[in-house]
This record gives sequence, structure tokens and C-alpha cells, in this order.
Amino acid sequence: MYLNFSQKLNETLDGINNCAIIPHKNPDADALGSSMALYLFLIKLGKKAKVILPNSPPNYLKWMIEKYDVISHENNPEETKKHLLNSEIIFALDFNSLKRIGMLSKEIHNAKLPIIMIDHHETPENFSKLFLSKPEIGSTCEILFNIMKLINNEFIDKEIATYIYSGILTDTGSFRYPLTSGKTHNIISELFKKGVNHTDIHEKIYDNYSFNRTHLLGVALQKLRLISDLGVAYTILSKDNLEKYNYKKGDTEGFVNFGLRIKGVCVSVIFIENSEENIIKISFRSKDKIDVNKFAKKYFNGGGHKNASGGFSNDSMIETENKFVSSIKEFLGA
Ligand code: 5GP
Ligand code: MN
Repeated sequence: MYLNFSQKLNETLDGINNCAIIPHKNPDADALGSSMALYLFLIKLGKKAKVILPNSPPNYLKWMIEKYDVISHENNPEETKKHLLNSEIIFALDFNSLKRIGMLSKEIHNAKLPIIMIDHHETPENFSKLFLSKPEIGSTCEILFNIMKLINNEFIDKEIATYIYSGILTDTGSFRYPLTSGKTHNIISELFKKGVNHTDIHEKIYDNYSFNRTHLLGVALQKLRLISDLGVAYTILSKDNLEKYNYKKGDTEGFVNFGLRIKGVCVSVIFIENSEENIIKISFRSKDKIDVNKFAKKYFNGGGHKNASGGFSNDSMIETENKFVSSIKEFLGA
């Protein structure tokens, strides 16, 4: 499958000079890592490329783009339009539904360019000319590494390897989620040979809490509720909680995972009041066979992966909580 895709990609890129690379909105390390790795790789292939983000990354991931002229559609719509006009092809990385890039989807629609999608989420939409969709792989970075290696392994240098490592690291939950495989670890071994400094990457990504963020985590943990007969834990962060600790985008990243540390808990959920968009943003995490992707899709306008999904609610917090408690009972067959 990789071989076939790489050959088709090579053929498609033949004669093309200007590429745009777009990851999903609120980019995580897999979205940014795959975008920046592909950007550097395309440059090595002699192409021009531009990474266009739907919006800015959270502070803790700014190091991934700061050396380069990456643009955000939200901050710079005119420049985005200009770059799309210049482009001949668009790479869509780490998303498979145009909803996931927000307002940028309109620009893409207007640009009428061929799209190449590389992704690992379930149930892809049909918007690309060429795609590689592998929901059985833990990260887009892992898929991209395999593609780049087939095209030209020599071009994968320490910097590209560092981006790939970052995406694999975070999307596998530091190599613990079920989709992490022996093949994933073989790739990590190859990245080590390319010179990655794993300690440095871990520190950049994980050891960067502000004092306020640490306190906010404390609030989320203290407010954890258990539906113990179902093995469900959930917590809520209100607008007031966020304001008190001077919330910055990305501060709540990873909080939802803590519920799963409780013995017997198989589903963990966090509800976060997003007053800017006037929604409750929800993150779902699960263990084993419990499919929160299905749950998020069915009840909360969302999706993602079997064990890690997201969604949202337009209702009030209390209505959302009540709907969650009754729907998770129904879903788990209680
Ligand atoms: P998180 O909870 O970390 O925001 O997201 C977990 C996973 O669910 C990610 O893979 C993300 O792409 C996906 N996801 C998050 N929010 C949404 C959403 O509103 N809709 C869909 N379809 N997927 C989402
Ligand atoms: Mn991903």
C-alpha cells in the first residue's frame, strides 16, 4: 500500500512546483510534525512549499514552527488566499473531514486544487484526488515516515526526524496506546539513527507547564466525578475556572487522560466551556473495546479514533452533563 501510494505521489508531483500543506485546526504535534516534516522534505525534492494552518498552534508547540514562515489563515486570510492562488496542489494532513479545518475549507473549495490526503482517522470523506487513509496506524507522522522513506530515505535528516518523532510520541500517548506496534518502534529506532534527541523533545512537549496551568489541572482533578458502576470518570472546566487561571490555548491538553488512571475506569471525559465559540468542547478517552469515536459521533457531533475522540455541545453545561450521563448509560448498555 505504501509502495503504491509513494509511486502515485511521485507521479503526481512530477512537474509540480508549488505545494500547500494544511493540517487540522487547533493543530497537535502530529498535525504540525507531519506538516513541517513534509514541508522540509518537499524542499529537498526541489519544490516550493507553504504550510498553512487554519489557526495558530498552542504555545507549547510554537517551537515546531518558529524557525519557518508558517501562516495562519485565521490571522492572515489575505496571505492565505495569495498562497493558495500560487499553489498547484494541496496536502491535507492529519484530518479527513473538511469540517476539521474550519473556515479554511471555503478557501480550499474556491481554490479548486487537487488535494492529497494523508491521515489516520476513521471514515474519510471523499474530497481528495489521491489519499492514504490508515486508521490502523497510530499517527499521521508514522504513515508519512514510511512514504518519505520510500521516496528518498537520504532526505530524512535530523530535523525531519525530530518532527516525525514528536507526532508519533504524542499520538501514541508516549508509545502506550494499542495502535503502537513493533513497526512503530522500528521507526523510532531509525529516527534515533538520524540523530533525534528524544529527551529534548519530551521536555519541550511535556515539561512546559505554567504555574497557572498546573493549578488548572488541580481544579480539573478535584472536580472529577465517577459513575463507578459504569467505569466512567468525567470532569468539567467552566469559564470561571479557566479565567481564574488565565487559560491559554492548549493548557487543558492531556487533562482528560488522568481519569483513566483510576482503577476500573474505562471511559474518561472532559467538558470545557468555550465562551468564544459559545460551545462546550468535549474530549473522550477510552480503553480497550469501548469505542468513543462511535459515541462522539452518535451523541456529540464529533469523532476521531476508537480510544480518543472529541465533540461539542451547543447546550448549557448542565444540559450537556445530563445528556452525557444518560447517553453513556445507554451506550454502555447499562
Ligand atoms: P482531543 O480530545 O484531543 O481534542 O481530540 C481527540 C481526537 O478526536 C483527535 O484525533 C481529534 O482529531 C478528534 N476530534 C476532536 N474534536 C473533534 C470534533 O469536534 N470532531 C471530530 N470529528 N473529531 C474530533
Ligand atoms: Mn493524528
